[in-house]
Amino acid sequence: MFQEMIRIDGSYGEGGGQILRTALTLSMLTQKSFELVNIRAKRPKPGLRPQHLTCVKAAQKISGAEVEGARVGSLYLSFHPKKVKPGSYHFDIGTAGATALVFQTVGLALACAGASKLLLKGGTHVPYAPCYHYLAEVYAPILEQLGFSFAFELRRYGFYPAGGGEVSVKIAPQKEISEPFELCGPYKTKKVKVLSVVTEDLPSHIRTRQAKAASEILAEKGFEPEVKLEKAWAKSPGTVVFVAISEGAKRAGFFSLGKKGKPAEKVAEEAVFAFFEFYKTQKAVDPYLADQLLLPLAITRMPFCFDTSRLTRHFFTNLWVIKHFIPDFSPEVRGDLDTPGIVSFLGTV
Ligand code: AMP
Repeated sequence: MFQEMIRIDGSYGEGGGQILRTALTLSMLTQKSFELVNIRAKRPKPGLRPQHLTCVKAAQKISGAEVEGARVGSLYLSFHPKKVKPGSYHFDIGTAGATALVFQTVGLALACAGASKLLLKGGTHVPYAPCYHYLAEVYAPILEQLGFSFAFELRRYGFYPAGGGEVSVKIAPQKEISEPFELCGPYKTKKVKVLSVVTEDLPSHIRTRQAKAASEILAEKGFEPEVKLEKAWAKSPGTVVFVAISEGAKRAGFFSLGKKGKPAEKVAEEAVFAFFEFYKTQKAVDPYLADQLLLPLAITRMPFCFDTSRLTRHFFTNLWVIKHFIPDFSPEVRGDLDTPGIVSFLGTV
């Protein structure tokens, strides 16, 4: 009945939710069914968690897929997509699970099908996932070069544990591109953007202390911080420092989250030190974008070259998943795990 069934081991490599999300996106785009076994098998809470289930349900909704194993704790999933239908969709994770990751599951597939609108509810600034500002200020502008246009709006912040954040996204139909994609360092600019956000239920001095600490450390090293302070409304209290650099088409971003007992200065330091570690390698692409770029690059099949400050397990695992669906996507990767790298591809179009 089903023509082709790709089998993927969900415990391979990094073994996280990204294997699932990349498989869902590419299954919809290539119209190839897949089954995923050992989902997050080596994690403390194995199987599908609520945020992964929301990704499955979102992909099922936009593609009318037939699905088996879609429940919390499931180690197995099979997914048989139909054609993706653009439209207006609303997905609520119900926890502080990352809205960015739900977006990254369905955004590219929807863009390849036409124009859509998304309303996403859940976490907007949570650990181990791109935060809202990363999506809007790093990921989206870079994907413009690949013909994708995503207009984000942050309607409400969502921090752990209550979540409740709201993000809307206007998705335009993907435009054909003819230019090869190139993103290589170093950055010459010394201008660095610093955003310090604190919810209204916490003392306002946290906001200024975060901003002051971040800008002082940056200025000491010869950077020119451009600081913005923001008061946020959210269900759970929270704070964030987001540090970003941009030059021409290049962009990179780093954030750190506050929590009870963690000094404001420490939050600032974490984000700024992550930025320094990146900047000193003289590469263009941060370690997160490096893994997130592979999927849109594989879809466009255009020639590309980028360098990155660090090749992560997420990067190598994502490449491995992509090859299950697009076997002729075989970029040359110069560099090893946890070292800087250069990634290039001659294209298949
Ligand atoms: P997984 O751990 O498999 O659920 O995948 C997490 C995804 O979130 C990967 O694509 C990471 O690159 C991304 N990610 C994790 N932390 C950050 C961060 N601080 N900034 C941007 N992206 C992140």
